[in-house]
Amino acid sequence: MTFHVSRPLPLKYNKATIQDKHSIMNQTVAIVTGGGSGIGLAIAEKFVQNNITTVIVGRDQEKLHQAKQKLGDLCVPIAADLSDLDAIPTLVKQVITQFGHIDILVNNAGINMKKEFTEVTNEDFLKVIQTNLVAVFALTREVVKTMLPNKKGSIVNISSMAAQYGIPKVIAYSASKTAIEGMTRAMATELSPQGIRINCIAPGFIATDMTSKAFNADTERKNKALGRTPMGVMGNPGDIGDAALFLATDSSRYITGVVLPVDGGNSIGF
Ligand code: NAD
Repeated sequence: MTFHVSRPLPLKYNKATIQDKHSIMNQTVAIVTGGGSGIGLAIAEKFVQNNITTVIVGRDQEKLHQAKQKLGDLCVPIAADLSDLDAIPTLVKQVITQFGHIDILVNNAGINMKKEFTEVTNEDFLKVIQTNLVAVFALTREVVKTMLPNKKGSIVNISSMAAQYGIPKVIAYSASKTAIEGMTRAMATELSPQGIRINCIAPGFIATDMTSKAFNADTERKNKALGRTPMGVMGNPGDIGDAALFLATDSSRYITGVVLPVDGGNSIGF
């Protein structure tokens, strides 16, 4: 199945020939943060398979390079540390200079930190909040500025079931993901009248580096997690990719402000 995000009138575009201009303006353009690995890479892969030009942003040049090798021409890597808030407007400008418009933003990049509550320093807490929340806010704001003139855009945030219920030793992570869900709802009420939809995915236990490391180090935790997951298994990154493709494109054109659990039933499990 091919998904389309229909676009209104093109913006100005300086550098290309007339033919190039036409093809560039007709492309659907997405940014996927943390697109070099795990869930972000799977989302980028689904987008590329559906003919979406996908800018993947991450810190690790080597991972980005490998992702580009895997995904091909429609994948455009940009190396950036999103916790450097001052670099964000330049990043967005770079995408606009190259493609003229942005249709989709997936805020997937995130970090976790597992520590006893009393061991978490102010610096630890701020580091997680800076990457998982403040950078998401700052990047979304800059991207939305470019979407407003087109009256069209789709933002997909990635939260976690840590926003739904308490998980010990991940205080800053839980705070950041809960805030993402609140921000999704608030933004949806403000921006949906202007043609910009904002939705959120709450992944359950998805087999990536992040969870595999945590689970391999703690079998009891793994059994507990899967024990309360009605489907009884971990998901794979492609499951989140499918949900992101749905929420990012016109297949979900009448959906905004939702948090979609993709978790094998974990959030309703006993
Ligand atoms: P991952 O560690 O494989 O991927 C995270 C990506 O974000 C990496 O590519 C990393 O380089 C990038 N990133 C982190 N900080 C960055 C920064 N400052 N600037 C630019 N890029 C940065 O982890 P994942 O499991 O694929 O997680 C992806 C998202 O899904 C995260 O937001 C995570 O919280 C969420 N999530 C994952 C699971 C799971 O089970 N894997 C469950 C719930 C939520």
